[in-house]
Amino acid sequence: MKNIKFTKVLGKNFTDTLKKLNFSCKYAIITDSNVKKLYGNKLKKQLITSGINAEIFSFSNGEKNKTLKTAEQIIEQLFKKKFHRDDCIVALGGGVVGDLAGFIASIYMRGMRCIQIPTTLLAMVDSSIGGKTGVDNFYGKNLIGTFYQPKNIYIDVDFLKTLPEKEISNGIAEIIKYGVIRKAGIFKMLTNYAKYNKIKDKNLTRKSEKTLLKIIKTCIKIKNSISRKDQKEKNIRKILNYGHTFGHIIEKLSKYKIPHGEAVSIGMVLINKIAENKKLLSKKQAEKIFMVIKTFKLPVVLPKHIKTQDILDLLQFDKKIRKEKNVFVLPKRTGKVILTTGITKNDILNACGK
Ligand code: ADP
Ligand code: ZN
Repeated sequence: MKNIKFTKVLGKNFTDTLKKLNFSCKYAIITDSNVKKLYGNKLKKQLITSGINAEIFSFSNGEKNKTLKTAEQIIEQLFKKKFHRDDCIVALGGGVVGDLAGFIASIYMRGMRCIQIPTTLLAMVDSSIGGKTGVDNFYGKNLIGTFYQPKNIYIDVDFLKTLPEKEISNGIAEIIKYGVIRKAGIFKMLTNYAKYNKIKDKNLTRKSEKTLLKIIKTCIKIKNSISRKDQKEKNIRKILNYGHTFGHIIEKLSKYKIPHGEAVSIGMVLINKIAENKKLLSKKQAEKIFMVIKTFKLPVVLPKHIKTQDILDLLQFDKKIRKEKNVFVLPKRTGKVILTTGITKNDILNACGK
């Protein structure tokens, strides 16, 4: 957890923190069009006012722009502005920015420094931690990428104040994932959070913010400990993909109209159904997970336009394939999941109900 810091980003204290890093370099803030307007320009101004050299590079928001083409365009601009491998990239934004900017940092002149400043709940609890970077292509999500650790990750929950409710739910899907793979009191905290959040009372708002911060810290601890043990996802790290094998495919088949968290939510329900059909997960446990998902208004059914055959076809491109078999993460109960290659085409057809 040494390189993960909880701090305010907008303000002089943060600029002083950067100065203390002694990188003595130029900063390239990479962000998307939304976050640039909300925070990017302010951060650039704040750095320049304190005598730190900074430029901002942005691209249109949305997963559909997380491509090699966007990466190439930004790399071109970095060259034009004469960035060098001793300089530092600042990834300011949600998961899309973090993945793309981290990827650029890992390949520009064979790698330059990178710091991550996640601004969505999803990026704070998941994508900014663990050093995975990547872009999407025709064959699927994050299929081109690197493992590349940022120097530091700065978490500032104040960014969440402008995040739409729908995006908060998106992040909650990842949090539910942690609750299933590691428990750690997450379901209880989520239930409290939902309770406090419903009533707009000053006292409860403070309580709900505090609970959310506690949840974020718990998830980061889990992700950090798992990804540190298995940086290149050879083994245990695969459990972080609970709900993701189907989730990534659903995202891709929706042309990224269904956001990541929502797709993972449907993916978790599908894989739970498989686990339940195989008598691995009890009906009661499956119901418990289902209810938490429903509490946060996350989707639970596969949209009609997504065909099971297309899902089966795309499974061939999953990154977790071993000896031509897909590795799935199946839950036994909250806090316990197993990895298996023993899922058949029929298991999937049954779970999809088609
Ligand atoms: P994710 O973080 O879920 O992987 P994105 O990076 O695409 O996904 O972020 C989701 C959306 O939220 C994007 O449209 C992005 O521009 C926007 N966004 C990111 N951070 C904030 C914020 N703090 N306030 C408001 N909108 C934000
Ligand atoms: Zn995810």
